[in-house]
Amino acid sequence: MATLSFADDRTIKQALPVSDIAELRQTIRGELVFPDDPGYPRARRVWNGMVDRRPAALIYCANPDDVVTAVNFARTRNLVVAVRAGGHNVAGLSVCDAGVVIDVSRMKHIEVDPVRRTARAQAGLSLGEFDAATQSYGLATTMGVNADTGIAGLTLGGGFGKLGRKYGLSCDNLTAAEIVTADGRLLRASATENVDLFWAVRGGGGNFGIVTTFEYRLFPVGPLLMSGSVLYGYDDARGAMRFYHAFASTAPDELSLDAALVTEPSGERFFSISACYIGSPDEGERILRPLREYGTPAEDRIALNSYLQIQSAGDSIFPRGRRYYWKAQFMREITDDAIDLLLLRYATAPTGSLVVFQQVGGAISRIPVADTPYANRDALYDCFPISIWDDAADDEAHIGWARDLWDAMRPFSTGGVYANNLGEEGTDRVQAAYGENYPRLVAAKNKYDPNNFFRLNQNIRPAL
Ligand SMILES: Cc1cc2nc3c(=O)[nH]c(=O)nc-3n(C[C@H](O)[C@H](O)[C@H](O)COP(=O)(O)OP(=O)(O)OC[C@H]3O[C@@H](n4cnc5c(N)ncnc54)[C@H](O)[C@@H]3O)c2cc1C
Repeated sequence: MATLSFADDRTIKQALPVSDIAELRQTIRGELVFPDDPGYPRARRVWNGMVDRRPAALIYCANPDDVVTAVNFARTRNLVVAVRAGGHNVAGLSVCDAGVVIDVSRMKHIEVDPVRRTARAQAGLSLGEFDAATQSYGLATTMGVNADTGIAGLTLGGGFGKLGRKYGLSCDNLTAAEIVTADGRLLRASATENVDLFWAVRGGGGNFGIVTTFEYRLFPVGPLLMSGSVLYGYDDARGAMRFYHAFASTAPDELSLDAALVTEPSGERFFSISACYIGSPDEGERILRPLREYGTPAEDRIALNSYLQIQSAGDSIFPRGRRYYWKAQFMREITDDAIDLLLLRYATAPTGSLVVFQQVGGAISRIPVADTPYANRDALYDCFPISIWDDAADDEAHIGWARDLWDAMRPFSTGGVYANNLGEEGTDRVQAAYGENYPRLVAAKNKYDPNNFFRLNQNIRPAL
């Protein structure tokens, strides 16, 4: 039996009225998908195969007018709304049960101005599409490491990647955004227009409206960069992890160093350090020498690669549709005690699990905390266990392992967390993501979304 969910927490057994469907069909230029349509089973799916929600309608917007229509449609009926771009949110917050999914993933127009070094990009672009368009002019701005992720969710929550230590977060390079607010207005936000909204969307997530277009600052990057990973056997992992922390803490801004405890298909466990030098290949060769000369690696895969290859190097590990769970926290250092604990716990991790360190710091840490909502600028690593599996019967084992490891690592964390790596973890964790910036976000929420229309996100609750 079809159900409808309302923003006041009511759920009734009823399908969307035929008159409502007819009204949408008349006004939306994009595509509409309802539960009886053949495309529905695919349309309701997101990247994480664990997410199994059944919306009453999915509205694939073709343009900003469609977004305005969709917002007005859902608001005037008090329906629950989810907003979707790349669909990569780990908790699947971009799809809802019995409400309306407003999907911008088909809005993919992008204009690059190579002279001013700017890009004007619609919210439906994936990172891979954005990187390809900007790299065709030898330009780029900070984007994450998985090509299939949406620029929208990533930028709105902060956005870190290989360029972050040199040029700041994705949100730090956002110069303007066009946003449909809860009352159905299409606003422009920049340093001179709706400045409080512009501040709020640079890290405050999907709380303030639906962004239709982002404008970014770009930088000359590549096309060829020294990059790749060095792999150490588990017996050598303790030393390699110590070396990683020492090398990462003194790295220049141009060098981005991620790392992970990984298991190969053979079942063998390794510690892997992935490096990328944003600068000339010769200088990259010199800067990466200590890494390549350290210890006795099982494998050295460092080479000259194109920026586009680097950006999608990990894609095969994270295909759509598998089951995923992760839980993240920021760290400032990797102590010997933390290393001992990680090696002990990872030795018995279920197959397919990883523990990831994404290095931050550099330029990210020099931007004043009050400049944007993104607060945890003093962290050096985002550390998180990731479980990946396929069979629902294994959910408990995989989720349990990741949660236990996260709990055990808590004493080594700053207490802060990256909003884009939060699951459904509650208000305290949302506050931990925004720290001293939280009250200012509440003020922006009071002004732009006082009824909390946009609530399926890392929610900033209005306080009116
Ligand atoms: C495999 C993988 C790799 C990742 N790597 C990185 C990384 O390297 N760096 C990094 O910073 N993050 C990374 N992330 C995290 C990523 O930033 C978040 O999952 C982000 O939310 C994904 O954005 P999306 O548009 O794909 O998600 P969606 O699931 O579509 O959206 C997530 C949320 O963003 C909001 N939202 C989406 N579109 C809009 C819009 N147009 N207007 C307003 N709100 C909107 C909504 O609240 C929605 O619930 C990664 C995630 C995955 C799954």
